[in-house]
Amino acid sequence: MPTLAHVALGSNLGDRAAYIHAAAGRLGALPATTLRALSPIIETDPVGPQGQGPYLNAAAELSTTLNPAELIAGLLSIERDLGRDRAVTQRWGPRTIDLDLLLYGDAVIDAERLTVPHPRMHQRAFVLVPLSQIAPHALHPVFDRSVIALLNALSAS
Ligand code: ATP
Ligand code: MG
Ligand code: MG
Repeated sequence: MPTLAHVALGSNLGDRAAYIHAAAGRLGALPATTLRALSPIIETDPVGPQGQGPYLNAAAELSTTLNPAELIAGLLSIERDLGRDRAVTQRWGPRTIDLDLLLYGDAVIDAERLTVPHPRMHQRAFVLVPLSQIAPHALHPVFDRSVIALLNALSAS
């Protein structure tokens, strides 16, 4: 049975919209994976080091039979293909594309290279706003709350 997985896309270098669309196309071209939805793109202020430009952010819903390790390997390989240079970028610094695995069905994973649900997703409007547009009722399996409930809680805080 395929699993529904949700991915956050972000870009703040170069032709940001082109990177988001290229990444979405490549997500749908991963083996055993279908792109079911791509949210509208929003523009957001950068989080992290000062002096970087604003981001474009979006969220994607995938249906996949890749396992979580295979899926994160696919995301990292798309980042590399689209010019993400991990050697020179600081944590939370500017990047052509960031692909974060937010949710993988109801899986809870805490491995060296993969934490799912993404540990900061519930604190980030730039993640929850686009995600709520394609998957408002997807459940966060740790908090047992929907995406829209997490967004409402964040907005109220
Ligand atoms: P943040 O995770 O706060 O959004 P970031 O996206 O800038 O920061 P990256 O440099 O893209 O962080 O990722 C660093 C490492 O995080 C990656 O090499 C990856 O192996 C690991 N990682 C762990 N869990 C996840 C996840 N759910 N999605 C994407 N990467 C993850
Ligand atoms: Mg990130
Ligand atoms: Mg990342």
